[in-house]
Amino acid sequence: MSYDPSRREVLAGALATAISPIGLLKELEEKPVGWAILGLGGYATNQIIPNMKFCKGSKLVALISGHSEKLVRFGDQYGIPETHRYTYDSMDAIKNNPDIEVVYVITTPSTHPGFTIRAAQLGKHVCSEKPMAPTVAECQAMIDACKKAKKLLQIGYRCHYENHNLRAIKAVRSGELGKIQSMRSDHGFNIGHGQWRTQKALAGGGSMMDIGIYSLNALRYLSGEEPIEVSAKITNPPNDDRFVDTEDTVEFTLTFPSGLVAQGAGGYSWSPGKNQFEVIGSKGKLTANPATAYEGDHLTLDGHDLSVEPNNQWAAQMDHFSHCIRSHSKPATPGEEGLRDIKIIQAIYESARIGKRVKLA
Ligand code: NAD
Repeated sequence: MSYDPSRREVLAGALATAISPIGLLKELEEKPVGWAILGLGGYATNQIIPNMKFCKGSKLVALISGHSEKLVRFGDQYGIPETHRYTYDSMDAIKNNPDIEVVYVITTPSTHPGFTIRAAQLGKHVCSEKPMAPTVAECQAMIDACKKAKKLLQIGYRCHYENHNLRAIKAVRSGELGKIQSMRSDHGFNIGHGQWRTQKALAGGGSMMDIGIYSLNALRYLSGEEPIEVSAKITNPPNDDRFVDTEDTVEFTLTFPSGLVAQGAGGYSWSPGKNQFEVIGSKGKLTANPATAYEGDHLTLDGHDLSVEPNNQWAAQMDHFSHCIRSHSKPATPGEEGLRDIKIIQAIYESARIGKRVKLA
Protein backbone atom coordinates (compact mmCIF):
# COMPACT_ATOMS: atom_id res chain seq x y z
CA MET A 1 0.00 0.00 0.00
CA SER A 2 1.42 3.39 -0.90
CA TYR A 3 0.85 6.71 0.79
CA ASP A 4 -1.44 8.99 -1.11
CA PRO A 5 -2.07 12.29 0.69
CA SER A 6 -5.03 13.02 -1.57
CA ARG A 7 -7.00 10.18 -0.02
CA ARG A 8 -9.64 10.74 2.64
CA GLU A 9 -7.89 13.16 4.99
CA VAL A 10 -8.76 12.12 8.48
CA LEU A 11 -6.07 14.39 9.90
CA ALA A 12 -8.13 17.29 8.68
CA GLY A 13 -9.88 17.57 12.02
CA ALA A 14 -6.87 18.33 14.14
CA LEU A 15 -4.85 20.05 11.45
CA ALA A 16 -7.58 22.32 10.18
CA THR A 17 -8.08 23.65 13.69
CA ALA A 18 -4.34 23.99 14.25
CA ILE A 19 -3.71 26.04 11.11
CA SER A 20 -6.84 28.17 11.24
CA PRO A 21 -6.39 31.94 11.17
CA ILE A 22 -5.57 33.34 14.58
CA GLY A 23 -8.40 35.87 14.20
CA LEU A 24 -10.95 33.08 13.91
CA LEU A 25 -9.64 31.23 16.96
CA LYS A 26 -9.72 34.45 18.96
CA GLU A 27 -13.28 35.10 17.78
CA LEU A 28 -14.27 31.59 18.91
CA GLU A 29 -12.71 32.08 22.33
CA GLU A 30 -14.46 35.42 22.72
CA LYS A 31 -17.80 34.07 21.50
CA PRO A 32 -17.86 30.26 21.78
CA VAL A 33 -20.42 28.29 19.80
CA GLY A 34 -23.43 27.39 21.99
CA TRP A 35 -24.15 23.68 22.36
CA ALA A 36 -27.32 21.97 23.58
CA ILE A 37 -26.92 18.40 24.78
CA LEU A 38 -29.87 16.18 23.88
CA GLY A 39 -30.13 12.98 25.95
CA LEU A 40 -28.71 12.92 29.46
CA GLY A 41 -27.57 9.30 29.68
CA GLY A 42 -24.22 7.85 30.66
CA TYR A 43 -22.04 9.12 27.83
CA ALA A 44 -23.52 12.62 27.88
CA THR A 45 -23.23 13.10 31.63
CA ASN A 46 -19.98 11.23 32.35
CA GLN A 47 -17.90 12.17 29.31
CA ILE A 48 -19.31 14.91 27.09
CA ILE A 49 -20.68 17.47 29.54
CA PRO A 50 -17.82 17.24 32.10
CA ASN A 51 -15.25 17.67 29.31
CA MET A 52 -16.92 20.72 27.82
CA LYS A 53 -15.05 22.87 30.34
CA PHE A 54 -11.86 22.04 28.41
CA CYS A 55 -13.30 23.42 25.17
CA LYS A 56 -12.00 26.77 23.95
CA GLY A 57 -14.62 27.55 21.33
CA SER A 58 -17.65 25.55 22.50
CA LYS A 59 -19.94 26.23 25.43
CA LEU A 60 -22.72 24.23 27.08
CA VAL A 61 -25.77 26.50 26.93
CA ALA A 62 -28.81 24.19 27.03
CA LEU A 63 -30.07 20.72 27.96
CA ILE A 64 -32.77 18.64 26.28
CA SER A 65 -34.05 15.49 27.96
CA GLY A 66 -37.05 13.21 28.25
CA HIS A 67 -36.71 13.30 32.05
CA SER A 68 -37.63 16.51 33.91
CA GLU A 69 -35.75 15.28 36.97
CA LYS A 70 -32.50 15.12 34.97
CA LEU A 71 -33.05 18.60 33.60
CA VAL A 72 -33.25 19.94 37.17
CA ARG A 73 -30.30 17.88 38.44
CA PHE A 74 -27.87 18.55 35.59
CA GLY A 75 -29.24 22.03 34.91
CA ASP A 76 -28.50 23.04 38.51
CA GLN A 77 -25.12 21.28 38.47
CA TYR A 78 -23.93 23.06 35.32
CA GLY A 79 -25.63 26.42 35.86
CA ILE A 80 -28.07 26.11 32.94
CA PRO A 81 -30.99 28.53 33.49
CA GLU A 82 -34.54 27.17 33.41
CA THR A 83 -35.16 29.09 30.18
CA HIS A 84 -32.54 26.84 28.52
CA ARG A 85 -33.86 23.47 29.76
CA TYR A 86 -36.16 21.63 27.33
CA THR A 87 -38.08 18.38 27.29
CA TYR A 88 -38.54 16.46 24.04
CA ASP A 89 -42.10 17.85 24.00
CA SER A 90 -40.99 21.46 24.39
CA MET A 91 -37.81 21.34 22.32
CA ASP A 92 -39.35 23.01 19.27
CA ALA A 93 -38.86 26.24 21.24
CA ILE A 94 -35.09 25.99 20.68
CA LYS A 95 -35.83 27.52 17.29
CA ASN A 96 -36.26 30.87 19.02
CA ASN A 97 -33.20 30.55 21.23
CA PRO A 98 -30.22 32.08 19.39
CA ASP A 99 -27.83 30.95 22.13
CA ILE A 100 -28.19 27.38 20.81
CA GLU A 101 -26.22 26.82 17.63
CA VAL A 102 -25.61 23.06 17.83
CA VAL A 103 -27.67 20.16 19.15
CA TYR A 104 -25.56 17.16 20.20
CA VAL A 105 -27.74 14.01 19.96
CA ILE A 106 -26.59 11.41 22.53
CA THR A 107 -29.49 8.97 22.72
CA THR A 108 -30.05 5.40 21.52
CA PRO A 109 -29.15 4.98 17.82
CA SER A 110 -32.76 4.37 16.79
CA THR A 111 -33.58 7.92 17.86
CA HIS A 112 -30.62 9.67 16.15
CA PRO A 113 -32.44 10.19 12.82
CA GLY A 114 -35.59 11.72 14.32
CA PHE A 115 -33.74 14.11 16.63
CA THR A 116 -31.16 15.05 14.00
CA ILE A 117 -33.76 15.87 11.39
CA ARG A 118 -35.88 17.75 13.92
CA ALA A 119 -32.93 19.82 15.18
CA ALA A 120 -31.84 20.70 11.63
CA GLN A 121 -35.39 21.76 10.77
CA LEU A 122 -35.34 23.95 13.88
CA GLY A 123 -32.33 25.74 12.40
CA LYS A 124 -29.52 24.13 14.39
CA HIS A 125 -26.29 22.42 13.39
CA VAL A 126 -26.19 18.81 14.59
CA CYS A 127 -23.64 16.48 16.07
CA SER A 128 -24.96 12.92 16.34
CA GLU A 129 -23.34 10.09 18.23
CA LYS A 130 -22.19 6.89 16.57
CA PRO A 131 -23.51 4.59 15.22
CA MET A 132 -25.14 7.22 13.03
CA ALA A 133 -28.44 5.31 12.54
CA PRO A 134 -29.67 1.74 12.19
CA THR A 135 -30.10 1.88 8.41
CA VAL A 136 -28.46 3.40 5.36
CA ALA A 137 -31.72 5.11 4.38
CA GLU A 138 -31.94 6.81 7.77
CA CYS A 139 -28.32 8.02 7.51
CA GLN A 140 -29.08 9.47 4.10
CA ALA A 141 -32.22 11.17 5.43
CA MET A 142 -30.12 12.81 8.18
CA ILE A 143 -27.60 14.07 5.63
CA ASP A 144 -30.35 15.33 3.32
CA ALA A 145 -32.22 17.13 6.13
CA CYS A 146 -29.09 18.97 7.27
CA LYS A 147 -28.21 19.87 3.70
CA LYS A 148 -31.71 21.16 3.04
CA ALA A 149 -31.61 23.25 6.22
CA LYS A 150 -28.08 24.46 5.29
CA LYS A 151 -26.76 23.12 8.58
CA LEU A 152 -23.60 21.11 9.27
CA LEU A 153 -23.66 17.54 10.51
CA GLN A 154 -20.86 15.92 12.51
CA ILE A 155 -20.75 12.31 13.74
CA GLY A 156 -19.16 11.89 17.18
CA TYR A 157 -16.18 9.78 16.13
CA ARG A 158 -13.94 11.05 18.93
CA CYS A 159 -10.92 8.93 17.91
CA HIS A 160 -10.46 11.06 14.77
CA TYR A 161 -9.54 13.90 17.10
CA GLU A 162 -7.36 11.92 19.53
CA ASN A 163 -3.59 12.32 19.37
CA HIS A 164 -2.55 8.63 19.55
CA ASN A 165 -4.90 7.75 16.72
CA LEU A 166 -3.68 10.73 14.70
CA ARG A 167 -0.08 9.62 15.30
CA ALA A 168 -0.95 6.06 14.23
CA ILE A 169 -2.56 7.35 11.03
CA LYS A 170 0.59 9.32 10.28
CA ALA A 171 2.79 6.27 10.90
CA VAL A 172 0.72 4.11 8.55
CA ARG A 173 0.17 6.62 5.78
CA SER A 174 3.56 8.36 5.74
CA GLY A 175 5.53 5.25 4.87
CA GLU A 176 7.14 5.10 8.34
CA LEU A 177 6.07 1.44 8.60
CA GLY A 178 7.07 0.66 5.01
CA LYS A 179 4.68 -1.28 2.81
CA ILE A 180 1.64 -2.25 4.87
CA GLN A 181 1.22 -6.02 4.93
CA SER A 182 -1.53 -6.60 7.46
CA MET A 183 -3.86 -4.78 9.76
CA ARG A 184 -6.15 -5.98 12.50
CA SER A 185 -8.45 -4.36 15.05
CA ASP A 186 -10.49 -5.88 17.90
CA HIS A 187 -12.98 -4.18 20.15
CA GLY A 188 -15.25 -5.94 22.62
CA PHE A 189 -16.37 -6.28 26.21
CA ASN A 190 -18.70 -8.36 28.33
CA ILE A 191 -22.13 -6.75 28.21
CA GLY A 192 -24.70 -6.95 31.00
CA HIS A 193 -28.18 -8.40 30.62
CA GLY A 194 -31.25 -6.46 29.51
CA GLN A 195 -29.55 -3.48 27.89
CA TRP A 196 -30.80 -1.45 24.92
CA ARG A 197 -27.48 -2.30 23.21
CA THR A 198 -28.70 -5.86 22.61
CA GLN A 199 -32.12 -4.83 21.30
CA LYS A 200 -32.28 -4.43 17.53
CA ALA A 201 -35.14 -1.93 17.57
CA LEU A 202 -33.11 0.45 19.73
CA ALA A 203 -29.51 -0.27 18.72
CA GLY A 204 -29.94 -1.27 15.07
CA GLY A 205 -27.85 -4.39 15.70
CA GLY A 206 -25.59 -5.95 18.30
CA SER A 207 -21.87 -5.69 19.02
CA MET A 208 -21.01 -4.65 15.46
CA MET A 209 -23.10 -1.48 15.67
CA ASP A 210 -21.90 -0.40 19.07
CA ILE A 211 -18.32 -1.58 19.59
CA GLY A 212 -17.24 -3.45 16.43
CA ILE A 213 -17.72 -0.12 14.67
CA TYR A 214 -14.51 1.06 16.39
CA SER A 215 -12.57 -1.76 14.71
CA LEU A 216 -14.14 -1.00 11.33
CA ASN A 217 -13.65 2.74 11.58
CA ALA A 218 -10.02 2.30 12.72
CA LEU A 219 -9.20 0.05 9.76
CA ARG A 220 -10.67 2.70 7.46
CA TYR A 221 -8.93 5.70 9.00
CA LEU A 222 -5.60 3.93 9.41
CA SER A 223 -5.51 2.74 5.81
CA GLY A 224 -7.21 5.81 4.33
CA GLU A 225 -8.94 3.43 1.96
CA GLU A 226 -12.52 2.28 1.49
CA PRO A 227 -13.14 -1.49 1.36
CA ILE A 228 -14.37 -2.93 -1.91
CA GLU A 229 -15.36 -6.31 -0.48
CA VAL A 230 -16.25 -7.79 2.91
CA SER A 231 -16.69 -11.25 4.34
CA ALA A 232 -17.94 -11.95 7.84
CA LYS A 233 -18.96 -14.56 10.36
CA ILE A 234 -21.20 -14.17 13.40
CA THR A 235 -20.97 -16.43 16.45
CA ASN A 236 -23.56 -16.43 19.21
CA PRO A 237 -23.11 -18.50 22.37
CA PRO A 238 -26.03 -20.89 22.87
CA ASN A 239 -28.58 -20.34 25.63
CA ASP A 240 -27.49 -16.78 26.39
CA ASP A 241 -30.45 -14.42 26.70
CA ARG A 242 -28.28 -11.45 25.71
CA PHE A 243 -28.05 -12.70 22.14
CA VAL A 244 -31.61 -13.55 21.21
CA ASP A 245 -32.29 -10.41 19.19
CA THR A 246 -28.78 -9.31 18.12
CA GLU A 247 -25.30 -10.71 17.62
CA ASP A 248 -22.42 -11.38 19.98
CA THR A 249 -19.13 -11.82 18.09
CA VAL A 250 -18.58 -10.60 14.54
CA GLU A 251 -15.34 -11.38 12.74
CA PHE A 252 -14.90 -9.62 9.44
CA THR A 253 -12.37 -9.21 6.65
CA LEU A 254 -12.08 -6.10 4.49
CA THR A 255 -10.38 -6.04 1.11
CA PHE A 256 -9.10 -2.61 0.08
CA PRO A 257 -8.41 -1.34 -3.46
CA SER A 258 -4.63 -1.45 -2.87
CA GLY A 259 -4.90 -5.20 -2.23
CA LEU A 260 -4.48 -4.80 1.53
CA VAL A 261 -6.61 -7.29 3.45
CA ALA A 262 -7.54 -6.25 6.99
CA GLN A 263 -9.22 -8.19 9.79
CA GLY A 264 -11.58 -6.81 12.39
CA ALA A 265 -13.85 -8.01 15.14
CA GLY A 266 -16.40 -6.87 17.66
CA GLY A 267 -17.82 -8.79 20.59
CA TYR A 268 -20.19 -8.56 23.52
CA SER A 269 -19.12 -11.63 25.52
CA TRP A 270 -15.40 -10.94 25.78
CA SER A 271 -13.94 -11.15 29.23
CA PRO A 272 -11.41 -9.63 29.47
CA GLY A 273 -12.38 -7.16 26.78
CA LYS A 274 -10.22 -5.95 23.92
CA ASN A 275 -9.55 -2.47 22.59
CA GLN A 276 -6.66 -2.62 20.15
CA PHE A 277 -5.22 -2.47 16.66
CA GLU A 278 -2.03 -3.74 15.10
CA VAL A 279 -0.45 -2.75 11.79
CA ILE A 280 2.43 -4.71 10.30
CA GLY A 281 4.55 -3.09 7.61
CA SER A 282 7.78 -4.03 5.89
CA LYS A 283 9.67 -1.63 8.18
CA GLY A 284 7.94 -2.19 11.49
CA LYS A 285 4.97 -3.19 13.61
CA LEU A 286 2.70 -0.63 15.22
CA THR A 287 0.42 -1.66 18.08
CA ALA A 288 -2.18 0.35 19.93
CA ASN A 289 -3.45 -1.09 23.20
CA PRO A 290 -5.64 0.42 24.34
CA ALA A 291 -6.34 2.01 21.00
CA THR A 292 -9.58 3.92 21.44
CA ALA A 293 -10.06 4.21 25.19
CA TYR A 294 -11.39 7.26 27.01
CA GLU A 295 -7.88 7.74 28.37
CA GLY A 296 -4.53 5.95 28.46
CA ASP A 297 -4.22 5.07 24.76
CA HIS A 298 -0.79 3.53 24.24
CA LEU A 299 1.23 3.09 21.06
CA THR A 300 4.32 0.96 20.49
CA LEU A 301 6.55 0.65 17.44
CA ASP A 302 8.41 -2.66 17.33
CA GLY A 303 7.77 -3.05 21.04
CA HIS A 304 9.11 0.38 22.00
CA ASP A 305 6.79 3.01 23.43
CA LEU A 306 5.92 5.84 21.07
CA SER A 307 5.75 9.09 22.94
CA VAL A 308 2.52 10.96 22.21
CA GLU A 309 1.24 14.04 24.02
CA PRO A 310 -2.24 13.13 25.30
CA ASN A 311 -5.07 15.48 24.42
CA ASN A 312 -8.71 15.86 25.41
CA GLN A 313 -10.43 14.11 22.52
CA TRP A 314 -13.93 15.31 23.44
CA ALA A 315 -12.90 18.96 23.60
CA ALA A 316 -10.98 18.51 20.33
CA GLN A 317 -14.02 16.94 18.65
CA MET A 318 -16.43 19.65 19.78
CA ASP A 319 -14.05 22.54 19.16
CA HIS A 320 -13.36 21.23 15.68
CA PHE A 321 -17.07 21.32 14.88
CA SER A 322 -17.45 24.79 16.40
CA HIS A 323 -14.57 25.92 14.24
CA CYS A 324 -16.26 24.42 11.15
CA ILE A 325 -19.46 26.29 11.98
CA ARG A 326 -17.69 29.64 12.24
CA SER A 327 -15.53 29.01 9.15
CA HIS A 328 -18.32 27.39 7.09
CA SER A 329 -16.23 24.29 6.46
CA LYS A 330 -17.14 20.60 6.45
CA PRO A 331 -16.21 18.64 9.58
CA ALA A 332 -13.59 15.87 9.45
CA THR A 333 -16.27 13.33 10.43
CA PRO A 334 -19.37 14.42 8.49
CA GLY A 335 -22.57 12.47 7.97
CA GLU A 336 -21.00 10.72 4.99
CA GLU A 337 -18.43 9.15 7.34
CA GLY A 338 -21.18 7.68 9.51
CA LEU A 339 -23.12 6.54 6.46
CA ARG A 340 -20.05 4.74 5.10
CA ASP A 341 -19.69 2.69 8.29
CA ILE A 342 -23.37 1.76 8.26
CA LYS A 343 -23.18 0.70 4.60
CA ILE A 344 -20.23 -1.55 5.39
CA ILE A 345 -21.88 -2.91 8.55
CA GLN A 346 -24.97 -3.84 6.52
CA ALA A 347 -22.69 -5.64 4.05
CA ILE A 348 -20.99 -7.42 6.96
CA TYR A 349 -24.38 -8.61 8.23
CA GLU A 350 -25.33 -9.71 4.73
CA SER A 351 -22.09 -11.64 4.28
CA ALA A 352 -22.55 -13.41 7.63
CA ARG A 353 -26.14 -14.25 6.67
CA ILE A 354 -25.40 -15.72 3.25
CA GLY A 355 -21.96 -17.11 4.08
CA LYS A 356 -20.32 -15.45 1.08
CA ARG A 357 -18.23 -12.39 0.27
CA VAL A 358 -20.18 -9.21 -0.46
CA LYS A 359 -18.93 -6.53 -2.84
CA LEU A 360 -19.27 -2.88 -1.93
CA ALA A 361 -20.03 -0.15 -4.42
P1 NAD B 1 -27.35 5.40 27.99
O1 NAD B 1 -28.24 4.23 28.07
O2 NAD B 1 -26.49 5.72 29.17
O3 NAD B 1 -28.19 6.71 27.65
C1 NAD B 1 -29.12 6.72 26.60
C2 NAD B 1 -29.96 7.99 26.71
O4 NAD B 1 -30.94 7.95 25.68
C3 NAD B 1 -30.70 8.08 28.03
O5 NAD B 1 -30.68 9.42 28.46
C4 NAD B 1 -32.12 7.66 27.69
O6 NAD B 1 -33.09 8.26 28.51
C5 NAD B 1 -32.22 8.17 26.26
N1 NAD B 1 -33.21 7.41 25.50
C6 NAD B 1 -33.39 6.09 25.48
N2 NAD B 1 -34.42 5.78 24.66
C7 NAD B 1 -34.88 6.93 24.15
C8 NAD B 1 -35.91 7.28 23.27
N3 NAD B 1 -36.70 6.36 22.73
N4 NAD B 1 -36.08 8.59 22.96
C9 NAD B 1 -35.29 9.51 23.49
N5 NAD B 1 -34.29 9.25 24.36
C10 NAD B 1 -34.09 7.98 24.69
O7 NAD B 1 -26.45 5.21 26.70
P2 NAD B 1 -25.10 5.96 26.32
O8 NAD B 1 -23.96 5.06 26.64
O9 NAD B 1 -25.10 7.32 26.88
O10 NAD B 1 -25.22 5.98 24.72
C11 NAD B 1 -25.93 7.01 24.05
C12 NAD B 1 -25.32 7.18 22.65
O11 NAD B 1 -23.95 7.54 22.78
C13 NAD B 1 -25.33 5.92 21.79
O12 NAD B 1 -25.49 6.25 20.44
C14 NAD B 1 -23.93 5.33 22.01
O13 NAD B 1 -23.48 4.53 20.94
C15 NAD B 1 -23.12 6.60 22.09
N6 NAD B 1 -21.88 6.43 22.86
C16 NAD B 1 -20.74 6.86 22.27
C17 NAD B 1 -19.54 6.70 22.92
C18 NAD B 1 -18.27 7.21 22.29
O14 NAD B 1 -17.19 6.94 22.82
N7 NAD B 1 -18.35 7.96 21.21
C19 NAD B 1 -19.50 6.09 24.17
C20 NAD B 1 -20.70 5.67 24.75
C21 NAD B 1 -21.89 5.85 24.07
